[in-house]
Amino acid sequence: MSVESEKRCGEVRVMPDAPMVDVMGGASRIERRVLDHGFVALIDCMPRMAPEGKTADYSIVQAARVSYGEGTKQVNEDRGLVRYLLRHRHTTPFEMVEFKFHVAMPIFVARQWIRHRTANVNEYSARYSIVPDRFYRPTPEAIRAQSQSNRQGGDGIVDAGTAEEFLALLERAEGLYKDYLGFTERGVARELARTALPVSVYTEWYWKCDLHNLFHFLSLRMDPHAQHEIRVYADAMYELLRPIVPIACEAFEDYRLGAMHLTRLEIEAIRTAAPLATTNKREIAEFEAKCDQLGIPRAG
Ligand SMILES: Cc1cc2nc3c(=O)[nH]c(=O)nc-3n(C[C@H](O)[C@H](O)[C@H](O)COP(=O)(O)OP(=O)(O)OC[C@H]3O[C@@H](n4cnc5c(N)ncnc54)[C@H](O)[C@@H]3O)c2cc1C
Repeated sequence: MSVESEKRCGEVRVMPDAPMVDVMGGASRIERRVLDHGFVALIDCMPRMAPEGKTADYSIVQAARVSYGEGTKQVNEDRGLVRYLLRHRHTTPFEMVEFKFHVAMPIFVARQWIRHRTANVNEYSARYSIVPDRFYRPTPEAIRAQSQSNRQGGDGIVDAGTAEEFLALLERAEGLYKDYLGFTERGVARELARTALPVSVYTEWYWKCDLHNLFHFLSLRMDPHAQHEIRVYADAMYELLRPIVPIACEAFEDYRLGAMHLTRLEIEAIRTAAPLATTNKREIAEFEAKCDQLGIPRAG
Protein backbone atom coordinates (compact mmCIF):
# COMPACT_ATOMS: atom_id res chain seq x y z
CA MET A 1 0.00 0.00 0.00
CA SER A 2 1.44 3.36 -0.95
CA VAL A 3 1.77 6.17 1.59
CA GLU A 4 -0.90 8.08 -0.39
CA SER A 5 -3.49 5.28 -0.26
CA GLU A 6 -2.73 4.66 3.45
CA LYS A 7 -3.57 8.30 4.12
CA ARG A 8 -6.88 7.86 2.29
CA CYS A 9 -7.97 4.95 4.57
CA GLY A 10 -10.87 6.19 6.73
CA GLU A 11 -10.61 9.65 5.24
CA VAL A 12 -13.83 11.67 4.90
CA ARG A 13 -13.76 13.71 1.75
CA VAL A 14 -16.01 16.71 1.17
CA MET A 15 -16.28 17.30 -2.55
CA PRO A 16 -16.14 20.93 -3.68
CA ASP A 17 -19.54 20.61 -5.40
CA ALA A 18 -21.80 23.35 -6.72
CA PRO A 19 -23.19 25.55 -3.93
CA MET A 20 -26.31 24.02 -2.32
CA VAL A 21 -29.62 25.87 -2.07
CA ASP A 22 -32.67 25.28 0.13
CA VAL A 23 -35.43 23.72 -2.00
CA MET A 24 -38.03 25.33 0.30
CA GLY A 25 -36.49 28.76 -0.26
CA GLY A 26 -35.54 29.13 3.40
CA ALA A 27 -39.14 28.70 4.63
CA SER A 28 -39.89 26.69 7.79
CA ARG A 29 -43.52 26.28 6.73
CA ILE A 30 -45.45 26.74 3.48
CA GLU A 31 -49.16 26.57 4.15
CA ARG A 32 -52.39 26.29 2.16
CA ARG A 33 -55.80 26.82 3.76
CA VAL A 34 -58.24 23.97 3.06
CA LEU A 35 -62.00 23.69 3.78
CA ASP A 36 -63.36 26.06 6.43
CA HIS A 37 -60.84 25.57 9.27
CA GLY A 38 -58.27 23.20 7.78
CA PHE A 39 -54.80 23.59 6.40
CA VAL A 40 -51.99 21.61 4.93
CA ALA A 41 -48.49 22.92 5.55
CA LEU A 42 -45.25 21.61 4.16
CA ILE A 43 -42.80 21.81 7.03
CA ASP A 44 -39.79 19.89 5.77
CA CYS A 45 -38.52 17.70 3.00
CA MET A 46 -35.59 15.51 2.06
CA PRO A 47 -33.40 16.43 0.33
CA ARG A 48 -33.70 19.87 1.83
CA MET A 49 -30.71 21.18 -0.11
CA ALA A 50 -30.04 20.77 -3.82
CA PRO A 51 -27.10 21.84 -5.96
CA GLU A 52 -27.69 25.33 -7.32
CA GLY A 53 -29.69 25.19 -10.52
CA LYS A 54 -31.29 21.84 -9.65
CA THR A 55 -34.45 20.81 -7.83
CA ALA A 56 -34.96 17.99 -5.33
CA ASP A 57 -35.47 15.78 -8.39
CA TYR A 58 -31.68 15.48 -8.38
CA SER A 59 -31.95 13.04 -5.48
CA ILE A 60 -34.06 10.63 -7.59
CA VAL A 61 -31.49 10.75 -10.36
CA GLN A 62 -28.62 10.33 -7.91
CA ALA A 63 -30.21 7.17 -6.44
CA ALA A 64 -31.03 5.71 -9.83
CA ARG A 65 -27.47 6.23 -11.04
CA VAL A 66 -26.17 4.12 -8.16
CA SER A 67 -28.13 1.19 -9.55
CA TYR A 68 -27.59 1.91 -13.22
CA GLY A 69 -24.03 3.18 -12.99
CA GLU A 70 -22.18 5.43 -15.37
CA GLY A 71 -24.01 3.94 -18.35
CA THR A 72 -27.08 6.03 -17.71
CA LYS A 73 -25.17 9.25 -18.16
CA GLN A 74 -24.63 8.48 -21.81
CA VAL A 75 -28.26 7.89 -22.64
CA ASN A 76 -30.20 9.99 -20.19
CA GLU A 77 -30.21 13.49 -18.95
CA ASP A 78 -31.99 14.01 -15.61
CA ARG A 79 -35.48 14.64 -16.95
CA GLY A 80 -35.37 11.72 -19.31
CA LEU A 81 -34.17 9.40 -16.57
CA VAL A 82 -36.88 10.47 -14.09
CA ARG A 83 -39.53 10.02 -16.76
CA TYR A 84 -38.16 6.61 -17.70
CA LEU A 85 -38.17 5.50 -14.05
CA LEU A 86 -41.75 6.56 -13.47
CA ARG A 87 -42.99 5.12 -16.74
CA HIS A 88 -41.41 1.77 -15.98
CA ARG A 89 -42.44 1.74 -12.32
CA HIS A 90 -38.85 1.66 -11.12
CA THR A 91 -40.06 3.08 -7.84
CA THR A 92 -37.30 2.98 -5.24
CA PRO A 93 -35.42 6.11 -6.42
CA PHE A 94 -38.62 8.07 -5.69
CA GLU A 95 -38.49 6.81 -2.10
CA MET A 96 -35.31 8.86 -1.63
CA VAL A 97 -37.41 12.03 -1.53
CA GLU A 98 -39.59 12.66 1.52
CA PHE A 99 -42.11 15.30 2.53
CA LYS A 100 -43.34 16.18 6.01
CA PHE A 101 -46.71 17.92 6.33
CA HIS A 102 -48.67 19.42 9.20
CA VAL A 103 -52.36 18.94 8.48
CA ALA A 104 -55.63 19.95 10.16
CA MET A 105 -58.67 18.12 8.84
CA PRO A 106 -62.07 16.85 10.02
CA ILE A 107 -61.97 13.39 11.61
CA PHE A 108 -64.02 11.83 8.80
CA VAL A 109 -61.30 12.95 6.37
CA ALA A 110 -58.57 11.70 8.69
CA ARG A 111 -60.24 8.26 8.74
CA GLN A 112 -59.88 7.97 4.97
CA TRP A 113 -56.38 9.40 5.04
CA ILE A 114 -55.03 7.05 7.71
CA ARG A 115 -55.75 4.06 5.47
CA HIS A 116 -52.55 5.00 3.63
CA ARG A 117 -50.24 2.86 5.72
CA THR A 118 -46.92 3.81 4.22
CA ALA A 119 -46.71 7.21 5.93
CA ASN A 120 -45.39 8.09 9.40
CA VAL A 121 -48.01 9.82 11.51
CA ASN A 122 -48.20 11.70 14.82
CA GLU A 123 -51.71 12.84 15.71
CA TYR A 124 -53.03 15.37 18.23
CA SER A 125 -54.00 13.48 21.39
CA ALA A 126 -57.58 14.06 22.51
CA ARG A 127 -56.75 11.90 25.54
CA TYR A 128 -54.05 14.34 26.60
CA SER A 129 -55.54 17.67 25.48
CA ILE A 130 -58.91 19.34 25.00
CA VAL A 131 -60.19 19.10 21.43
CA PRO A 132 -60.26 22.61 19.90
CA ASP A 133 -63.67 24.01 18.98
CA ARG A 134 -63.46 23.57 15.19
CA PHE A 135 -66.08 21.78 13.12
CA TYR A 136 -66.43 21.31 9.39
CA ARG A 137 -69.57 22.76 7.91
CA PRO A 138 -69.95 22.68 4.12
CA THR A 139 -71.29 25.76 2.40
CA PRO A 140 -74.97 25.38 1.37
CA GLU A 141 -73.92 25.10 -2.30
CA ALA A 142 -71.63 22.19 -1.41
CA ILE A 143 -74.28 19.95 0.16
CA ARG A 144 -74.29 17.14 -2.34
CA ALA A 145 -77.15 14.80 -3.14
CA GLN A 146 -76.65 11.04 -3.03
CA SER A 147 -75.47 9.84 -6.44
CA GLN A 148 -77.85 7.40 -8.10
CA SER A 149 -75.13 5.80 -10.22
CA ASN A 150 -72.39 5.55 -7.59
CA ARG A 151 -73.44 4.31 -4.17
CA GLN A 152 -70.26 5.78 -2.71
CA GLY A 153 -70.55 9.31 -4.06
CA GLY A 154 -72.48 12.54 -4.26
CA ASP A 155 -73.89 14.06 -7.40
CA GLY A 156 -75.39 17.54 -7.84
CA ILE A 157 -76.78 19.36 -4.82
CA VAL A 158 -79.88 18.98 -2.67
CA ASP A 159 -82.69 21.55 -2.71
CA ALA A 160 -82.27 24.72 -0.65
CA GLY A 161 -84.74 23.67 2.08
CA THR A 162 -83.02 20.34 2.67
CA ALA A 163 -79.61 22.05 2.70
CA GLU A 164 -80.83 24.50 5.32
CA GLU A 165 -82.20 21.74 7.58
CA PHE A 166 -79.04 19.71 7.18
CA LEU A 167 -76.91 22.70 8.22
CA ALA A 168 -79.16 23.13 11.25
CA LEU A 169 -78.50 19.47 12.13
CA LEU A 170 -74.74 20.05 11.91
CA GLU A 171 -75.11 23.07 14.16
CA ARG A 172 -76.95 20.97 16.76
CA ALA A 173 -74.16 18.39 16.58
CA GLU A 174 -71.60 21.16 17.14
CA GLY A 175 -73.66 22.22 20.15
CA LEU A 176 -72.43 19.05 21.86
CA TYR A 177 -69.06 20.77 22.25
CA LYS A 178 -70.14 22.78 25.28
CA ASP A 179 -71.44 19.58 26.92
CA TYR A 180 -68.13 17.90 26.11
CA LEU A 181 -66.25 20.75 27.82
CA GLY A 182 -68.68 20.68 30.74
CA PHE A 183 -68.13 17.00 31.40
CA THR A 184 -64.34 17.33 31.20
CA GLU A 185 -64.64 20.11 33.83
CA ARG A 186 -66.75 17.79 35.97
CA GLY A 187 -63.94 15.24 35.90
CA VAL A 188 -64.86 12.87 33.06
CA ALA A 189 -61.64 11.70 31.42
CA ARG A 190 -60.90 13.51 28.16
CA GLU A 191 -60.44 10.13 26.45
CA LEU A 192 -64.11 9.34 27.16
CA ALA A 193 -65.65 12.80 26.95
CA ARG A 194 -64.46 13.12 23.33
CA THR A 195 -66.70 10.24 22.28
CA ALA A 196 -69.63 12.68 22.36
CA LEU A 197 -68.13 14.77 19.54
CA PRO A 198 -69.19 14.33 15.89
CA VAL A 199 -66.77 13.29 13.13
CA SER A 200 -66.94 16.82 11.70
CA VAL A 201 -64.57 17.96 14.47
CA TYR A 202 -61.05 18.76 13.33
CA THR A 203 -57.94 16.86 14.28
CA GLU A 204 -54.29 17.55 13.40
CA TRP A 205 -51.29 15.47 12.57
CA TYR A 206 -47.79 15.44 11.23
CA TRP A 207 -47.67 13.19 8.19
CA LYS A 208 -44.43 12.16 6.52
CA CYS A 209 -44.28 10.14 3.34
CA ASP A 210 -41.81 9.36 0.59
CA LEU A 211 -42.52 10.49 -2.95
CA HIS A 212 -43.31 7.04 -4.32
CA ASN A 213 -46.04 6.45 -1.74
CA LEU A 214 -47.13 10.06 -1.89
CA PHE A 215 -47.76 9.71 -5.63
CA HIS A 216 -49.82 6.61 -4.85
CA PHE A 217 -51.81 8.57 -2.26
CA LEU A 218 -52.28 11.48 -4.67
CA SER A 219 -53.31 9.29 -7.59
CA LEU A 220 -56.11 7.86 -5.42
CA ARG A 221 -57.12 11.02 -3.58
CA MET A 222 -56.87 13.56 -6.43
CA ASP A 223 -59.05 11.26 -8.50
CA PRO A 224 -62.64 12.42 -9.16
CA HIS A 225 -63.85 9.25 -7.36
CA ALA A 226 -62.32 10.44 -4.10
CA GLN A 227 -64.56 12.38 -1.72
CA HIS A 228 -64.40 16.14 -2.30
CA GLU A 229 -63.32 16.85 1.28
CA ILE A 230 -60.13 14.76 0.99
CA ARG A 231 -59.52 15.68 -2.64
CA VAL A 232 -59.05 19.34 -1.74
CA TYR A 233 -56.26 18.34 0.67
CA ALA A 234 -54.59 16.15 -1.95
CA ASP A 235 -54.77 19.02 -4.47
CA ALA A 236 -53.23 21.42 -1.95
CA MET A 237 -50.41 18.98 -1.11
CA TYR A 238 -49.67 18.53 -4.78
CA GLU A 239 -49.45 22.31 -5.21
CA LEU A 240 -46.91 22.42 -2.40
CA LEU A 241 -44.63 19.68 -3.67
CA ARG A 242 -44.79 20.51 -7.38
CA PRO A 243 -42.19 23.33 -7.27
CA ILE A 244 -39.85 21.12 -5.25
CA VAL A 245 -39.88 18.09 -7.58
CA PRO A 246 -41.20 19.58 -10.85
CA ILE A 247 -39.67 16.91 -13.09
CA ALA A 248 -41.13 14.01 -11.10
CA CYS A 249 -44.51 15.78 -10.96
CA GLU A 250 -44.54 16.34 -14.69
CA ALA A 251 -43.87 12.63 -15.19
CA PHE A 252 -46.54 11.77 -12.61
CA GLU A 253 -49.09 13.86 -14.51
CA ASP A 254 -48.12 12.33 -17.84
CA TYR A 255 -47.85 8.69 -16.81
CA ARG A 256 -50.13 8.31 -13.78
CA LEU A 257 -52.57 11.13 -13.13
CA GLY A 258 -53.53 11.78 -16.74
CA ALA A 259 -52.99 8.21 -17.89
CA MET A 260 -55.53 5.45 -18.37
CA HIS A 261 -55.43 1.77 -17.54
CA LEU A 262 -56.95 -0.56 -20.12
CA THR A 263 -57.98 -4.11 -19.20
CA ARG A 264 -57.37 -7.06 -21.50
CA LEU A 265 -61.08 -7.12 -22.37
CA GLU A 266 -61.03 -3.41 -23.21
CA ILE A 267 -57.99 -3.73 -25.46
CA GLU A 268 -59.68 -6.62 -27.25
CA ALA A 269 -62.93 -4.65 -27.69
CA ILE A 270 -61.07 -1.63 -29.10
CA ARG A 271 -58.88 -3.78 -31.36
CA THR A 272 -61.81 -5.71 -32.84
CA ALA A 273 -64.46 -2.93 -32.54
CA ALA A 274 -66.64 -5.52 -30.79
CA PRO A 275 -68.67 -5.16 -27.58
CA LEU A 276 -66.85 -5.64 -24.31
CA ALA A 277 -66.91 -9.37 -23.49
CA THR A 278 -68.78 -9.03 -20.20
CA THR A 279 -72.34 -8.54 -18.94
CA ASN A 280 -71.17 -6.56 -15.91
CA LYS A 281 -72.97 -3.21 -16.18
CA ARG A 282 -70.42 -1.30 -14.12
CA GLU A 283 -67.53 -2.61 -16.20
CA ILE A 284 -69.35 -1.68 -19.41
CA ALA A 285 -70.04 1.82 -18.09
CA GLU A 286 -66.38 2.24 -17.13
CA PHE A 287 -65.32 1.12 -20.61
CA GLU A 288 -67.75 3.55 -22.25
CA ALA A 289 -66.35 6.38 -20.16
CA LYS A 290 -62.85 5.48 -21.35
CA CYS A 291 -64.01 5.41 -25.00
CA ASP A 292 -65.51 8.88 -24.51
CA GLN A 293 -62.28 10.13 -22.98
CA LEU A 294 -60.31 8.68 -25.89
CA GLY A 295 -62.75 10.17 -28.37
CA ILE A 296 -63.41 6.82 -30.03
CA PRO A 297 -66.82 5.30 -30.77
CA ARG A 298 -68.23 3.01 -28.08
CA ALA A 299 -67.62 -0.41 -29.56
CA GLY A 300 -70.63 -2.59 -30.34
C1 LIG B 1 -62.27 6.15 -3.88
C2 LIG B 1 -61.93 5.25 -2.73
C3 LIG B 1 -62.91 4.52 -2.10
C4 LIG B 1 -62.59 3.68 -1.01
N1 LIG B 1 -63.58 2.99 -0.38
C5 LIG B 1 -63.29 2.21 0.69
C6 LIG B 1 -64.32 1.49 1.38
O1 LIG B 1 -65.48 1.55 1.04
N2 LIG B 1 -63.97 0.75 2.45
C7 LIG B 1 -62.67 0.64 2.87
O2 LIG B 1 -62.40 -0.07 3.85
N3 LIG B 1 -61.68 1.31 2.24
C8 LIG B 1 -61.95 2.08 1.16
N4 LIG B 1 -60.95 2.76 0.53
C9 LIG B 1 -59.58 2.63 1.04
C10 LIG B 1 -58.75 1.69 0.14
O3 LIG B 1 -59.27 0.38 0.16
C11 LIG B 1 -57.29 1.66 0.62
O4 LIG B 1 -57.25 1.17 1.95
C12 LIG B 1 -56.65 3.03 0.62
O5 LIG B 1 -56.90 3.68 -0.61
C13 LIG B 1 -55.15 2.89 0.82
O6 LIG B 1 -54.62 2.29 -0.32
P1 LIG B 1 -53.34 1.40 -0.26
O7 LIG B 1 -53.51 0.25 0.67
O8 LIG B 1 -52.97 1.05 -1.67
O9 LIG B 1 -52.27 2.48 0.29
P2 LIG B 1 -51.09 2.32 1.34
O10 LIG B 1 -51.56 1.80 2.63
O11 LIG B 1 -50.39 3.65 1.32
O12 LIG B 1 -50.16 1.27 0.72
C14 LIG B 1 -49.44 1.55 -0.48
C15 LIG B 1 -49.10 0.22 -1.10
O13 LIG B 1 -48.20 -0.45 -0.23
C16 LIG B 1 -48.50 -1.82 -0.20
N5 LIG B 1 -48.87 -2.21 1.18
C17 LIG B 1 -48.98 -1.39 2.25
N6 LIG B 1 -49.26 -2.08 3.34
C18 LIG B 1 -49.36 -3.38 2.95
C19 LIG B 1 -49.65 -4.59 3.63
N7 LIG B 1 -49.86 -4.63 4.94
N8 LIG B 1 -49.68 -5.71 2.91
C20 LIG B 1 -49.44 -5.70 1.59
N9 LIG B 1 -49.16 -4.61 0.89
C21 LIG B 1 -49.12 -3.44 1.57
C22 LIG B 1 -49.62 -2.06 -1.21
O14 LIG B 1 -49.06 -2.35 -2.46
C23 LIG B 1 -50.29 -0.73 -1.27
O15 LIG B 1 -50.97 -0.49 -2.48
C24 LIG B 1 -61.24 3.57 -0.55
C25 LIG B 1 -60.25 4.31 -1.21
C26 LIG B 1 -60.57 5.13 -2.28
C27 LIG B 1 -59.46 5.93 -2.95
